[in-house]
Amino acid sequence: MRNRLAFLCLAIGFLFGPAASVGRAQEQKKKRPNIVIILGDDMGYADVGFHGCKDIPTPHIDSLAKNGVRFTSGYVSGPYCSPTRAGLLSGRYQNRFGHEFNPAGGKQGMPIDQVTIAQRFRAIGYATALVGKWHLGNEAKMHPTERGFQEYFGFLGGAHPYLPGKGKDIFRGTKAIEEKEYLTDALSREAVSFIDKHANDPFLLYLAFNAVHTPMQATDKYFNRFPNIKDTQRKTYAAMMSALDDAVGQVLAKLREKGLEEDTLIFFFSDNGGPTMVGTTINGSINFPLRGSKRQLLEGGVRVPFVMQWKGRLPAGKTYDQPIIQLDVLPTSLAAAGAEVKAEWKLDGVNLLPFLEDKNKDAPHEMLFWRFGAQRAARKGDWKMVSYDKTGIHLYNLKDDIGESKNLAAARPEILRDMQKAWSEWDRGNIAPLWGGGKKVDLK
Ligand code: CA
Repeated sequence: MRNRLAFLCLAIGFLFGPAASVGRAQEQKKKRPNIVIILGDDMGYADVGFHGCKDIPTPHIDSLAKNGVRFTSGYVSGPYCSPTRAGLLSGRYQNRFGHEFNPAGGKQGMPIDQVTIAQRFRAIGYATALVGKWHLGNEAKMHPTERGFQEYFGFLGGAHPYLPGKGKDIFRGTKAIEEKEYLTDALSREAVSFIDKHANDPFLLYLAFNAVHTPMQATDKYFNRFPNIKDTQRKTYAAMMSALDDAVGQVLAKLREKGLEEDTLIFFFSDNGGPTMVGTTINGSINFPLRGSKRQLLEGGVRVPFVMQWKGRLPAGKTYDQPIIQLDVLPTSLAAAGAEVKAEWKLDGVNLLPFLEDKNKDAPHEMLFWRFGAQRAARKGDWKMVSYDKTGIHLYNLKDDIGESKNLAAARPEILRDMQKAWSEWDRGNIAPLWGGGKKVDLK
């Protein structure tokens, strides 16, 4: 009897042992990557180490560029908070569905007929979470947990204090709680805890920091790192950037600890340029060498620090110069997960993977377009067409003039005409703003 049992065990081991290991190998091969989208808020173009920043070290954010792809023409589709998020989450120009301006409470928010990246990833079995700023509507039906995020920790509006107060307006799921930690630290704590909990599932983590948006608040832990910065505003900004960089470092450390680095596609970018406005900066950010500010379609408003890391798949230290936009995050992530993108979704973003892997040498986008109230802009190759105030339409060659200082509209009318025509064709696919009126845009 014992012999027969031993023989049986041996036979089962012989038959199924190799099969099981083949199965494991296939499972490994087919493992779908996690997606982590880390968003900064109102960061200056100049304020990361990989863009040459000297007074604020950002070693963890820089490590994403070092171990991944840095985009020199990485754009967002809106020059301020909420429109950019609506474009990111839908993969469509937010003007397609009237989300041109920040919602101002009430019934305003991302229309619920727009399908979010979280809903797309829920449909293919991913665990999903938003940690941080929502800013896409306050109504119950617009709550992140109704828009595909299984887990949510954060706040609903466009700005929030960083230092703990007495109010209960931080949500865990749909429940308001009181937070005791410095907010940037709290957000990294929650992100790390989500990764810990879901280390064995494929997951989508949208980590939307409010740093370095106003109000400008930091703790001594971060202030004390900058004894040499005398300007109080810049010092506070530096402290907040440093907290943000630490938070990114904690997320990366947790992924490493769990052995997920190779299996995780990470995006990092800012939701818009620094709010340097006209002649001043309201948070201490610097957009140099770009001109313009948050709320403008000049490069300073829409060209942002933008990196992407996927250690298991993408080359390290690559610089990619063709224009890309945050609308590409959704289709790129779905492609990474092996999921199909359907034409009927009418996405404006594209899957960047073939371009970054040199399988496709063309530009991902023939043109990029923007509309923000009376402002309009387009980019084609090195050319940028922009109308940002009452001085008419300007044409710049960004290759020679990244600071948009030399208007070539009169010198190259044929280029301007073609771009204006293409912009009008694109605009036919947009609708009027659902709120905010599309009237004058306050540049101050
Ligand atoms: Ca912003």
